[in-house]
Amino acid sequence: MKSWTRREFGRSTGAMALAGLGPRLAASESKARVVVVGGGIGGATAAKYLAVSAPTIEITLVEPKPNYTTCFFSNLYLTGLCSLESLTHGYETLAQRHGINVIHDSVAAVDPVAKTVGLKSGPKLPYDRVVVAPGITFNYDAIAGYDEAATQVIPHAWNAGPQTQLLRRQLESMEDGGVFVLVAPPNPFRCPPAPYERASLVAYYFKQHKPRSRILILDAKDSFNAQDLFLDAWERHYRGMIEWLPAQFTGGIKAIDVKERSVETASETFKAAVANVIPPQMAGQFAQQNGLVDQSGWCPIDPITFESKLQPGTHVVGDASSAGDMPKSAFVANSQAKACAFAIAAALTGSERQSPHLFNTCYTFLSPDDAVSNAVSFKPVAGTIKIVDNFGSQVQESAETRHRTAREAQSWYTAFTRDTFGYAAF
Ligand SMILES: Cc1cc2nc3c(=O)[nH]c(=O)nc-3n(C[C@H](O)[C@H](O)[C@H](O)COP(=O)(O)OP(=O)(O)OC[C@H]3O[C@@H](n4cnc5c(N)ncnc54)[C@H](O)[C@@H]3O)c2cc1C
Repeated sequence: MKSWTRREFGRSTGAMALAGLGPRLAASESKARVVVVGGGIGGATAAKYLAVSAPTIEITLVEPKPNYTTCFFSNLYLTGLCSLESLTHGYETLAQRHGINVIHDSVAAVDPVAKTVGLKSGPKLPYDRVVVAPGITFNYDAIAGYDEAATQVIPHAWNAGPQTQLLRRQLESMEDGGVFVLVAPPNPFRCPPAPYERASLVAYYFKQHKPRSRILILDAKDSFNAQDLFLDAWERHYRGMIEWLPAQFTGGIKAIDVKERSVETASETFKAAVANVIPPQMAGQFAQQNGLVDQSGWCPIDPITFESKLQPGTHVVGDASSAGDMPKSAFVANSQAKACAFAIAAALTGSERQSPHLFNTCYTFLSPDDAVSNAVSFKPVAGTIKIVDNFGSQVQESAETRHRTAREAQSWYTAFTRDTFGYAAF
């Protein structure tokens, strides 16, 4: 099958040479081909586990950025507890060790009829299956006054990189005694405990460097993930520093005044020294533009194969997917991607299909020495995905247990990123 023009092929191989590509592209055209859109946690894991489980499949991973910076642990970076470099990972191991063609470009569109993926730079890549993992995008229509341009003054810092660096600079240059206003988004959103982990670690930073400063959380919700653990920790570590106002108290977030750095709610307007607005979220722009989302704004999928319910042959994993009880976390993206990779490998190689094992493990810092964890298993039930078992930290735990969990979190980070970006053999 020949789907590329010579001009397209020349342009594409140029891009691939820059990315230090392996030998897979030159392999026989009779090989089954999988294209993965997005080299975040879901996409990188799907590409790696396809390569590991079905070496006969030709795998191409398309990702615009040369390196990936993790959102997880970015709250530690924000408050000076780690460097951004330590959270940044390259694609060389996926290319060199696992023979994945890594193309640094954006995917413009999937053509499910011609079965091609069109790159922004022009070439079209033929596929037998395509995995889409574009993460999230923000609904800038939801809060008056807060649009993409506003993020350059009031960052969301919900994608790690320049946004997180901007928020860190603002916190560092804030005068002692100011108020850090954090607007927390409505459900569902990327990483349910993360806004409250951010508030905890910013409080820790203030306690060390700006002890007269305060944190105000204006929430779009009336309750939040692991609320009892956070409220207990805020009382123990940061008494009087963090105030949480639920939507039922404020009447909800109405508008942002970027110039005044203020947040208007139905009942009152709050002025910030530093503001951090995390807007409502939906499946990544690529999914929105390629017919993969339903009216919920997320991508409905088959709970066993992660094949789109709207577009056969296209699989969606990670935050963009609408996966029943599964939260939007990196661990979930990794778990979904493995299940999806095994299902695609079975379909394309004729091997036996396994039942998926779906998990989430989450570590959350309340202070650098006090972390909590949560482990959940899931299974596909009646067309969706349900929680089977749930195990988590308790309010009454000892300081020693919490300290141990914080150390475990650091080991988890290393093992998890090694797994995702291919340095680990498993
Ligand atoms: C502050 C914070 C803390 C967090 N902490 C944790 C934690 O402790 N534990 C945890 O498990 N999770 C955590 N998360 C959540 C985690 O970061 C996300 O759930 C995870 O990154 C989702 O992976 P993904 O692959 O779906 O999307 P992403 O990792 O965002 O990857 C999407 C990729 O797709 C690429 N892309 C987009 N469009 C295109 C296109 N058109 N063509 C090609 N590529 C494209 C993007 O460049 C990006 O690299 C946290 C998140 C935040 C914000």
